[in-house]
Amino acid sequence: MSKWKKYPDLRKNVQAIKNLCVYRVSFREGRLPWEMLLLFNPRQPKGPFWFVPHDDENSAFASGVYAVRRYGGGMLSVVAGGRRYFRGQDPNRNFGTTQADARQCRGQKSPAPIYTRTIFSIIDAFRSGTPYLALHNNSDGYSGNGGSGTISVLRSTKRSQAYPAFPKIVRGNGGLKDEDTMIYIAGRAARASRSKVNRLNRQGINVKYEWVDSAHNDCSMSNYVILRKGTDRYYNIETQKGDRRTQRELIDRLVRIW
Ligand SMILES: [Zn+2]
Repeated sequence: MSKWKKYPDLRKNVQAIKNLCVYRVSFREGRLPWEMLLLFNPRQPKGPFWFVPHDDENSAFASGVYAVRRYGGGMLSVVAGGRRYFRGQDPNRNFGTTQADARQCRGQKSPAPIYTRTIFSIIDAFRSGTPYLALHNNSDGYSGNGGSGTISVLRSTKRSQAYPAFPKIVRGNGGLKDEDTMIYIAGRAARASRSKVNRLNRQGINVKYEWVDSAHNDCSMSNYVILRKGTDRYYNIETQKGDRRTQRELIDRLVRIW
């Protein structure tokens, strides 16, 4: 364990990761020496596989560990010194492989074929029939000033529609009913599949649907999955920073119905 001491995410979850396999994944692309942690369940390595791109979202990491212990599979988490960006690059805006992608995606500094290929080959090696999965945390409420406080299931835009599961959505610390608690789905149609939304809503899961097309590609994982992997089997579980309990609850509810 001593060699893992320099990774706060491992240190904070030292008991929980005891029976998991932990590997360090590193590679360079251009000016960026990427480092990631790969954790998987040796008793059942094939299974749900979670991507945790933002190193400042500590509950997402802990929730991934919970899922890997309970349901098998694995997770891949970007190491960025506890920050959202790694040397100026948002890890979740780096799934563009060509110059054209990087020009189009405001959040991508330069094309990242190695990054994209490496991450998806790891995911696809573990994932067996399960959807593409991501875990995120956001800040409380809606600040509207960028960063992660811009997500709320009380808001819809032309390209992202909210489908709350409850008649009354709560601000603050509302657990499943909180405006910051939701599962993101995505697809090429302007509107979400009603049956998919209903299936999630019936589980008490708030849903947000992102309408993806190549003209609006932002080089996030969801956009890459929809546009390049040709599937809409993608779920991103979002909860407020610090709310591990709700994130675990969403994992437990989602695995029953995906
Ligand atoms: Zn995030």
